[in-house]
Order: sequence, then C-alpha cells, then structure tokens
Amino acid sequence: MRIGRTIYLDYQATTPIDQRVLSEMRPYLHDRFGNPHSRDHSVGWEASTAVERALGQIAEMIGSDPDEIVFTSGATESNNLALLGICRRNTDKKRNRILLSSIEHKSVLAVGRALHSQLGLSVSLLPVDKEGRVIASALADLLADDVLMVSVMSTNNEIGTIQDIPAISKAVRKVGAIFHCDAAQAPLALEVGAFADWVDLLSLSSHKMGGPKGLGALYIRRELQSEIEPMIYGGGQQNGLRSGTIPVPLCVGMGKAAEICASSDSVSTRRKVAALRDGFVRSLQNLPWDIKVNGPSAFMRHPGNLNLCFKGFSAHSILGALQPHVAASTGSACTSGISEPSHVLKAIGLSDSDAESSIRFSLGGGTTEEDLGDAARYVSEALLKLTGKR
Ligand code: PMP
Repeated sequence: MRIGRTIYLDYQATTPIDQRVLSEMRPYLHDRFGNPHSRDHSVGWEASTAVERALGQIAEMIGSDPDEIVFTSGATESNNLALLGICRRNTDKKRNRILLSSIEHKSVLAVGRALHSQLGLSVSLLPVDKEGRVIASALADLLADDVLMVSVMSTNNEIGTIQDIPAISKAVRKVGAIFHCDAAQAPLALEVGAFADWVDLLSLSSHKMGGPKGLGALYIRRELQSEIEPMIYGGGQQNGLRSGTIPVPLCVGMGKAAEICASSDSVSTRRKVAALRDGFVRSLQNLPWDIKVNGPSAFMRHPGNLNLCFKGFSAHSILGALQPHVAASTGSACTSGISEPSHVLKAIGLSDSDAESSIRFSLGGGTTEEDLGDAARYVSEALLKLTGKR
C-alpha cells in the first residue's frame, strides 16, 4: 500500500479503513444521522438498529452476546475501564493484588501504577521469555487467592508475540481471579472467535482492525457488569457503563470491520501477509549488515509484524533516512514521542543500545510484493548512506 510516494508499513500503528467499511459508514455520516438514544421517532430507531447490528457483528467475532459489549473511544479507554472499573468497585479486601505482563501496552501499565498509588493495590509484573511469552512458572508462582485481576495482552504491538490465552485463562481461573485481555492487535493476527469463553474482559480498538479511529469496545462478561464502576457518568447510555451518545458511523464501521476479520477471507489474508513478511526478512538479512529479528519465531507471531535490530545503527536515523519513502516506526506510536528504549524490547532481554537500533515494520492486507521489494532497496540505501556517516 502506498500513500503518494510512501510505502506504508505501519499497520500496527493504525490500519487504513477498508473500502467496504467506508461504504457502510457513509450513509450514517449524512442521511442517517439520527441519535440512537432518541426513542420517540423512526430516525432514532434507524440509528439504534444500526448500533445493534454493529454490536452483533463484534459479538459474533469474539463469541459473546451483543449485550456484553460496551463501546468506548478506543482500546486505551477499554483498558482503563476494565482495570479501574473492577478495582474501584472491588469489595473483597482479601483480593488486593494485580498481575500485569511486563510487555503490556502503556494504557495498561500506567493504570497499574495508578491502581497502586490511588488504591494501594500491589501490582506485580509478569516476566516474559526472550520471545515475549509470559513465563508459565512465574505466573503460577504469583497466582494465589489474593489476586483480584490479571491482565495479559493477546498480541503484542511491538514484537507481535501471540500469548497462549487459553492456558493463561485456565491458570487464572483456578484461583478465582478476573482475567482481562487487551486484544487490540488480535483481530488481524488470529482467529478470535473463542476469546469470550477464555476471558472476563476483552479490549478492542476499531482503528487496529480496518475500522475508523475514535472507537473501541470492551467485552464485559454478563455476570461482571454490576461489578464495574463506570468512568464516565451521564445519561446512563450503554446500561450506565459508559454514558454519552454512541457515535453511530464509527460503530457501523467497526461492526463491518469485525465481520471482515471474522470471515474466511481473513484466513488467506493472514497467510499471504506472513509469506510476504518472511520474504522481506530474507531480503533484508541478505544485506551486508548485522540485522537480527527481535521476538518470536513465525509460529505464534502476528503475521504482519516484523521487529528488526540493525546493530550499531540508530533506529531514528534509519527512519529519518527512509523519509518520505517508507513509513515504519520504532514501536508503539503512543510512546514514540518519548525517547527511552522500548520496555517491550528490554523485557525480552535487549540491551538499551540494541533496543534503540530496532525498527518495527508492520504489514497488512494492502501490502504487496512490489512494496516490499522497493522498501528493502530503500532500507539498503539508507544503511549505506548512514554507514558513510558513522
Ligand atoms: N493496546 C494495544 C496492544 C495497542 O496496540 C494500542 C494502540 N497502540 C492500544 C492498546 C491503544 O489503542 P487506542 O489507540 O485504540 O486507544
């Protein structure tokens, strides 16, 4: 996929909106503009029907019921609502510990710090192995009946690690703790149809799965819905769990994106993307520099994720030299303004210097072989140019 002269290889930062998604959304931005909470007329009913349909499509994708889904502004808010919501309402004083994986997104880790400082909860980080997988024995050692909640993401946004969510779920449920999973990066990476069976709370983000920005969703298992303190109060929409007028066009878009992710087409797209990614790695590793793959092997890795360490180079210099030809990134866009080595790369054992030499390329359904051939050539030219300056 190209945007003008730029080859777009940053799908994990955000995905382009699928054309089919855009077509579904368009009428709701214009003719069908009703407020879904207007109960007294057909314009409102039409909007409300569209929201119901979107809830159905998202529920179908993850294997839940539609009334177990709450719309939010994105996965950041979903993560906040899941963790803060449960912990603020917790009355079981014996359960005062939280476990988070050490490679969670900042919207989970920062909430962990708030839970410690504001509610006095003890927050432990679960270590991961060099492929980014939660170490099962460490999880078993930390789990006990005083653990209130565990949060482990399905698919990492920097190194693409796919966690064994069924196994983690089994361990967490054995001690009666609540299991939250940030699945923002999961729908493009794997089949997520059984997630609602495995977890109690699941965060999703529309713009990471071919939908529009500004919308997310949180699956909340029905029995937990009275155990969660809202973060936004108001007119009591969405069963009081998240007040405010639901943005219908965004919901329609996310619903369609969910339908596409759950379709059989996505299975072949994932396969195609993984093959392109593997070919891209091979062409880069044929270059005469020391280039290493960070994170897991292709098995249990997001098919579109590639994280490479260009030993001895600064990632920022490479990305700068690639402009305007290739859009890739140093990792999470949410933190790329902060110049500190990635906590994810450090958690899997990279030194500060290797972490600062690492770039994430992320591919999607619109990526072509030609894009990657050209991108490899641009990377080679950038390294050549920078080698002269070293
Ligand atoms: N979790 C993960 C794993 C993510 O990759 C992101 C986006 N970088 C988020 C949460 C936050 O999502 P949003 O942009 O929808 O707030």
